[in-house]
Amino acid sequence: MATLHLVPIHLSQALLQPLCARLERSLRIEVLVRRPGFDPEDTFDASRGQYNSRKLLAKLLDEPVGGGRVMGVAGVDLFVPVLTYVFGEAQLDGRAAVVSSYRLDNAIYGLPLDPKLLHERLVKEAVHEMGHTYGLVHCHTHKCVMRSSTYVEEIDLKDEGFCPDCRQWVDGRSG
Ligand SMILES: [Zn+2]
Ligand SMILES: [Zn+2]
Repeated sequence: MATLHLVPIHLSQALLQPLCARLERSLRIEVLVRRPGFDPEDTFDASRGQYNSRKLLAKLLDEPVGGGRVMGVAGVDLFVPVLTYVFGEAQLDGRAAVVSSYRLDNAIYGLPLDPKLLHERLVKEAVHEMGHTYGLVHCHTHKCVMRSSTYVEEIDLKDEGFCPDCRQWVDGRSG
């Protein structure tokens, strides 16, 4: 069975444990948690007050996880140089991905806290980024988790699962 190594980066334990179970079910993959073997602060950009997701991906790829996949799960805000922020990023058809819970939290929009909604958004974005590592590009099927999302409202419209076409692709590529 294929293995996914989850690397928490300033992430609350309350978000991490349920995420493992949901990813195991959605992706039919073994999920293990490992502490980062690098200093996440090396990817912090002080002028932006955010963490550079490109640099995080490079560090994650250096983690000694054999041939398994590796995904950073950050509680802090991520950016790529050309964008204000990203919910996550992945290597297309590669081994590494990173997601952030930071902008999935109602708190930063001045809305009432909703831990269940936050958790659901994080699962969807984690499954989405993992889909990219299986070589999936963005999908236009209604509710497919591989639809592109720029705003949390768009994440809320998606399911946490793949549409039948994307599912078939992932099943053909896993292992
Ligand atoms: Zn995407
Ligand atoms: Zn799809």
